[in-house]
Amino acid sequence: MKTFRQIFREAENKIPGIAAAPGIVIAKTYLFTKEAIEISEGEIFEVEVAKANLDEALRKSKKELNKVLNIAREKMSGTRAAIFEAQMMILDDPVLISAIKKRIEKERKLPEFIVNDEISKYQQLMILSHEPYMKERAHDIEDIKNRIIRNLQKKRWQSKIPNDAIVVSDSLTPADTILLSRCNVKGFVTDHGGVTSHAAIISRSLNIPAVVGTHNGSKLIKDGETIIIDGFHGYVFTTPAEDQIKFYTLKQEKLIELQKGLEELKDLPAKTKDGKEIHLKANVDVTGEIDIVVTSGAKGIGLYRTEQILEELGEFPNEDEQTTIYTRLASRIYPEHITIRAFDIGGDKFKFLDYTEPNPFLGLRGIRILLENITLFKTQIRAVLRASQNKNIQFMLPMITTLKEIKHAKEIIEECKKELKKEKIVFDSRMKIGIMIEVPSAAVLAKEFAQEIDFISIGTNDLIQFLMAVDRGNDLVAELYQEFNPAVIRTIAHIVREAKKAHREVSICGEMAADTLAMPLLVGLGLDSLSMSPATLPYAKRIIRSMSYHKAKEMADECIELGSEKEISDRIEKFFKEHSIIRTRQII
Ligand code: PEP
Ligand code: MG
Repeated sequence: MKTFRQIFREAENKIPGIAAAPGIVIAKTYLFTKEAIEISEGEIFEVEVAKANLDEALRKSKKELNKVLNIAREKMSGTRAAIFEAQMMILDDPVLISAIKKRIEKERKLPEFIVNDEISKYQQLMILSHEPYMKERAHDIEDIKNRIIRNLQKKRWQSKIPNDAIVVSDSLTPADTILLSRCNVKGFVTDHGGVTSHAAIISRSLNIPAVVGTHNGSKLIKDGETIIIDGFHGYVFTTPAEDQIKFYTLKQEKLIELQKGLEELKDLPAKTKDGKEIHLKANVDVTGEIDIVVTSGAKGIGLYRTEQILEELGEFPNEDEQTTIYTRLASRIYPEHITIRAFDIGGDKFKFLDYTEPNPFLGLRGIRILLENITLFKTQIRAVLRASQNKNIQFMLPMITTLKEIKHAKEIIEECKKELKKEKIVFDSRMKIGIMIEVPSAAVLAKEFAQEIDFISIGTNDLIQFLMAVDRGNDLVAELYQEFNPAVIRTIAHIVREAKKAHREVSICGEMAADTLAMPLLVGLGLDSLSMSPATLPYAKRIIRSMSYHKAKEMADECIELGSEKEISDRIEKFFKEHSIIRTRQII
């Protein structure tokens, strides 16, 4: 059987788009076309009748929207359903309605003309905005405008279609997406729209795979033909070949298997019994892993190891290529956030230097290499900034050892921002900058470092290695690699305390965060965010949901005083027994 790459490269029946909602579907299509709205400027003779028609159209629109709102509330979270409440507010806006009525009286033109003209003014302002989010909101307003006009023209809108189809359309409004979903829609494909479009957000909420932005997809796809939607990568395959169907069927089966364990916990918050919420985020190493992240219920990506791109490609991608990679990831996880870590090269990772260092772990690696290769560093920073338009990216510096490194890196970031501004490239000017604490000097100086940055992520993999002076990959000294060594626990406690004093977000993204035994201790130490491999996430969630933060804190306070690794791990085991918490063994 061909690999995905072969199918992807060779396929002539592939229509590329934007991966808007994850999942794979193989089903028949339904081409959803909407009658174009024609607006007449016609003169009116009876102003009162025209105004009454307007009132009636507003009343009817409100009734329809209420129906949509009810379905939305039933199927989605409150925040997502709020877009329809926002549309409802437009219908109730006294300033807008009175402006329309005044113009009807004065200009004596058909209400549909004035409604179109008035609401379009708002839209224009939004379309001119540099913010992609505002541009998308302009489309939402289009929906309410057309709804009023259609009701003024007394036309009906199609909302019933055959069951179990993939809906293919030029564009879809949020209301279309909601109403059509009642016909057990299997997927959505639209020519227009981005990942922040509400149709995309709603598809994600409803768990319906979607590919948007296919440009002319609706012209290429025939009504009733079988297609494949790959909502993970943003592809549509028309009339798929046998091996494509086989490949995707297999992928579907794997996905179902994976989701079985995750499903029941996916939408539940990782909250302790006494109400403390822990943000469980995902670590992403390989780009393909994002597929699972999105279905795992992770609250964003806490660590994206960009050096893995180099492992995959075998070379440094240029600025545009990197921008594409980061944009795609940030879009896939939107509206959650992604923490992109600068290339952590050297050490035992991607080899950058021509010669072999005597002590690679203690050599030129991470931020040290980046600060010596400014062009390389700037290429990455510019790409990350360019991908930050939707404001859901934060940038993290690896292997920080001194304050000078942080200051230098920040200066370079500022320089990149200035360049982009000059080039009139839009980016998130307030993108958060954080550091990894994985070197003992950084741990000791957590207080001073915290003043310089927005967030801290503790890299326990390296931190334990350096605290214990033990090569993390060397079997001979594996016994000494101790997560629960008092030195490690007290160091973590110190970092958390200092970060909190400075009001900085602090998390752990090393593998210790994925160790289910460590979970109550880390929560008790005050960490409010943990980032781990997505497969571990539901297990972590289950533990957090079955324990009390206060009890965990009492236990952590005791552990800080204990003098040996054994005493600490025994104390945590006792905690699990005392509170009858089921612990699945570490599964990474
Ligand atoms: C760490 O050191 O804990 C970490 C997350 O970074 P990496 O494993 O990539 O070195
Ligand atoms: Mg590390």
